[in-house]
Formats: sequence, C-alpha cells, structure tokens
Amino acid sequence: MEQSTRPGTGRLADRYGRVATDLRVSLTDRCNLRCSYCMPPEGLPWLPSPDILTDDEVIRLVGVAVRLLGVTEVRFTGGEPLLRPGLTRIVAAVAGLRPRPVLSLTTNGIGLGRLAPGLRDAGLDRVNVSLDTLDAERFARLAYRRRLAEVLAGLAGAAAAGLTPVKINSVLLRGINDDEAPALLRFALDHGYELRFIEQMPLDAQQAWDRSRMVTAAEILDALTAEFALLPDPAERGGAPAETWLVAGSSGPHGGLARVGVIGTVTRPFCGDCDRTRLTADGQVRDCLFARHESDLRTALRGGADDAELARRWQVAMSGKRAGHGIDDPTFLQPARPMSAIGG
Ligand code: SAM
Ligand code: SF4
Repeated sequence: MEQSTRPGTGRLADRYGRVATDLRVSLTDRCNLRCSYCMPPEGLPWLPSPDILTDDEVIRLVGVAVRLLGVTEVRFTGGEPLLRPGLTRIVAAVAGLRPRPVLSLTTNGIGLGRLAPGLRDAGLDRVNVSLDTLDAERFARLAYRRRLAEVLAGLAGAAAAGLTPVKINSVLLRGINDDEAPALLRFALDHGYELRFIEQMPLDAQQAWDRSRMVTAAEILDALTAEFALLPDPAERGGAPAETWLVAGSSGPHGGLARVGVIGTVTRPFCGDCDRTRLTADGQVRDCLFARHESDLRTALRGGADDAELARRWQVAMSGKRAGHGIDDPTFLQPARPMSAIGG
C-alpha cells in the first residue's frame, strides 16, 4: 500500500524528496571516555535528569517512529549508551515492535564483553565499536582514560555473542594516530571486524575543529592503498554514509572478501541520500547532525499528546531538513549541542 505523507500517518519526508527511515536514538549524554574530538577532558555539564526521557518514554517515541512513520532501522547511541541502566529493557521493547526494526548500537565498547549476550538475547542485531588506536599510550592521550584493553575485550565479546558484523569506527587525528590506518585495517581483517574511518567533523564541544588539520578521506585512502589493494565494492550504497571497498587477498563475507569503508562527511558529503532522523536523550528531534534547530517532542509527550499527534510533530520536524550540512558555507556555525549529546 502506498504510504501517505498526511500528518499523523505515513513517513518522514522532506521537501527534497528524502525519506528518513533510519532513527538514531541518544540514550544519554554521559560518557566514560573523553575522546578529544568529542569532549573536553573535564567533561561537560550533563543534561539535567528530569529532562532525560524515561525508558518508557523512549520506547513510546521509538514505537511512534516505527509503527506510524516508516522507520525500519533503530540505532542506539550516546554519549555512551552502555551507561544507560535500562538499555537492555529498551532494546527488548523495541525489538518487540512490528514491523520489527533492525536494531544496532554505537558504543565505545567498555563493558560490552559483559553486556553483549544479554543485549543479543534482548534482540540487538549488531554493534559499531569506536576504536581509534591500537596503542595503549595513544589511547590514553586521545581518550584521557587508560581503557584500551576494555574496548578490545568489548569487541571480542560482541563477536562471540554473534552481534555481527561487528563494525569498528575510527577517527584519525593529525599528529596522534594519523599513521595508523593500515594497522587498524590489518587488525580488523585479522579479527573479522569491518572497519570504517570517519572524517573528523566540527561537532566537538570545545569547537576546536580545524579543517586544515583534518585527516581527509583522500589521505586515508592513500594510506590504505599503499599497503592494500582495494577493489570496487559491487554492493549498492543506498543511504549509507560509508563509501566501501573490498580488500584484495582478505577473507570475509563479501564474495569471500572483507570490506573497508570511509565516511567522508566533510570532503565527500552524502546529504542528498541521507535517510536519518535523530532523537536526543532529552526528547528533541534533530533532522541533521549539523542542525542548529531542534523540535521538542518531550513537552508534547509529557503534555498528553497521543501517538498521532507525536507522529505529526515528528513529520513537521523533518519536513524542514536542509539540502546539505553547509560545512563549506562561510556562514556555517557549529550546532550548540555537541556530538556527545547527539550521538553520531
Ligand atoms: N560513545 C559511543 C562511541 O564512541 O561509539 C557512541 C557515541 S559517539 C558520539 C558516536 C561516534 O561518533 C563514534 O564513532 C565517535 O568516534 C564519533 N565521533 C565523535 N565525535 C566526532 C567528531 N568530532 N568527528 C567525527 N566523529 C566523531
Ligand atoms: Fe564518549 Fe563516544 Fe564521545 Fe568518545 S566519541 S567521548 S566514547 S561519546
């Protein structure tokens, strides 16, 4: 049946013809790491607890997105989502929705070894674990915590629990880990993880991002192709942000080969194919990572709005999505809300 765009039913369409089917839900703005491209070492003023959606409120809003608005994929993120006490219960409730969405998690991996079996049993399908370096000293310098071993244990635990494909997200920083692309790929190939590099984006709370210091997708590819032969990936990219290649001589699930990806948000934008909508831990809809405007669903939810009304508000929130992120525009301003409270 053709889905309609009438308020209250249908889908999350914008005026450029894009339809959001992929929902990112931030479950907390708190974190147990301090990755320098994301948060200052001293942390941030956290969201006030009364503002944070309860587990039942999260479940209700995700239900509206899935049942009334055509969302087919739900990714939980943070801050660090494993710090959210109700995570497993939320995953189980969302996995019980029909049509059942694909469920994934973006995490720094700390504690994942212990939590992975329960999350899988609750219905989680797969995970992305952030890992920027394999060197413990660099990790401590980059994330201000000595916790590399726990991240590696988390990756192994996710794979053992069958949360596959286990993907790794890596951000390269000039002068810190910009020489590590081939080593990270070797590590991923050796362990059966799928690696994707993310260009550093202007979303850090410190607002210290400097385009001239950013390690670009082109540089990352140069570093990889110096040591690996990368073959075109026949898979359809669709709305996926990563450009992907198959690694010659590897072994993996893609026609016998492993895949590697690069997300060039800044130098190779993919806004024209974006299929994302975002919900923050305090119940705000964001139509883009870089949006400077948010739409408040929490007040309506707590004020007694029914599901149809919440769906209508979500549709209005998404209808104004801009054509592109505008990072190259001289008037570009970073959003007030940092990445740690949006979720990536
Ligand atoms: N704490 C979890 C984690 O690190 O995976 C989930 C939240 S984190 C904000 C989600 C992703 O955003 C991570 O892969 C992280 O590396 C990435 N990220 C954070 N700040 C970024 C930035 N300024 N530019 C690019 N990626 C960033
Ligand atoms: Fe925490 Fe993730 Fe931000 Fe690192 S990137 S500080 S793990 S929220």
